Amino acid sequence: MKTIECHDCEGKFTATTKEEILGILYDHYIKNHNEIITNVNDEEKKNWMSRFEKDWAQAQEVSNNL
Ligand SMILES: [Zn+2]
Repeated sequence: MKTIECHDCEGKFTATTKEEILGILYDHYIKNHNEIITNVNDEEKKNWMSRFEKDWAQAQEVSNNL
């Protein structure tokens, strides 16, 4: 499991796979940052994804029993 932070608020999200965290983040953006994901062009989407990919790659593995 890894934890990453939302770029647009203090939210922290934990998931096991990249697909899972993308789904969680997507739901979060729909609910809390709707204007951010509805007003973006392809370039900004690409930037968001590459920032996300980097964050996910650098996130520390966290253990369940800590
Ligand atoms: Zn957020």
